Amino acid sequence: MHRASPKFLGLSVLLLATFACSPSSGNTPQEPEAPAVRVDTRKPIRFDGEAAWKDMVRTVELGPRHPGSPALEQTRMWIEEEARKLGLKPERETFKHKVPVTANTPTGEVEFGNVIVTLVAAVPEGAPPAPILYVAGHIDTKFLGPRFVGANDGGSSFGAVMELMRGVVAAGPRPVTYRFAFFDGEESFHPTEWSNPNNTFGSRHHANKIKGNGDLFHTGAFVLLDLVAEKDVQLDWDINSTSWLRDIVWGEAKSQGLEKHVGRGPGSAISDDHLPFKSLRVPVIDLIDLKYGGPTRPFWHSDEDTLDKCSPDSLQVIGNIVCGALPKIEDEVLRRKALKAD
Ligand SMILES: [Zn+2]
Repeated sequence: MHRASPKFLGLSVLLLATFACSPSSGNTPQEPEAPAVRVDTRKPIRFDGEAAWKDMVRTVELGPRHPGSPALEQTRMWIEEEARKLGLKPERETFKHKVPVTANTPTGEVEFGNVIVTLVAAVPEGAPPAPILYVAGHIDTKFLGPRFVGANDGGSSFGAVMELMRGVVAAGPRPVTYRFAFFDGEESFHPTEWSNPNNTFGSRHHANKIKGNGDLFHTGAFVLLDLVAEKDVQLDWDINSTSWLRDIVWGEAKSQGLEKHVGRGPGSAISDDHLPFKSLRVPVIDLIDLKYGGPTRPFWHSDEDTLDKCSPDSLQVIGNIVCGALPKIEDEVLRRKALKAD
């Protein structure tokens, strides 16, 4: 048995085993070599919708979590605590940025804080760095007064990414490096509009950072979750998302009999934390259901965005789809990296 092309294979994760023929001797005819057999030792990634829901509830119960608020800081501390429990080292990205002057931002400047947690790939010593796969969401809520708690919009991405982090770690060694990104400042500071550039502060800051430190070169894909807990969740067909990533996720939904939870094309262009990475040519996908409460989105950016409009079952459905899709995304990211290296 020999290992093929270890340059892009994870340690004991993807092994190519070939069964060589016995050496020819005397009159014994040489047997043909058996085809390569792929042994996939990766463990499935599991998702507990109730555990994700519990995290979602605890952040929502803090109330509004706009940038600079103590409730958002508490949420960041929970992420850091969870990461440490999993044996990972959370990284804070704190930065100040000018924002429009509003009742809530009288100085026109806010301090933002992302939390980034990295699970390094299991690759043989001396091997080139593994590709990076992002699993991301935003943890801030739009400032819409004291009654807006962002259950689905801010709460669901926190709960889902926390549980995905636990699930991936529990599944054991992965052939790619996972980066769980909890972004601050996704929401626009404009009270009603999505006004560029007054949004996606955290993701833009991080995208800029990886552009400068070389990590961009190794980044294989960016998977974003946002508004994923609505009752009867159905992911939108976002035309800003990369088609091969959508093919994998939509195909996974179908194979699990969950196709009613993914929307049909032609879809629309959604602006979210994936765009700063898309503009750096990273393959991206936004897993989002913007039809919150119906096509006119009655609960979106309204005081109606509360826990009773959401369900742990929806988190479970999206979690199952994502967990089934991640190993396929790992494979595709590795395949694309190998092509790039050749
Ligand atoms: Zn929002």
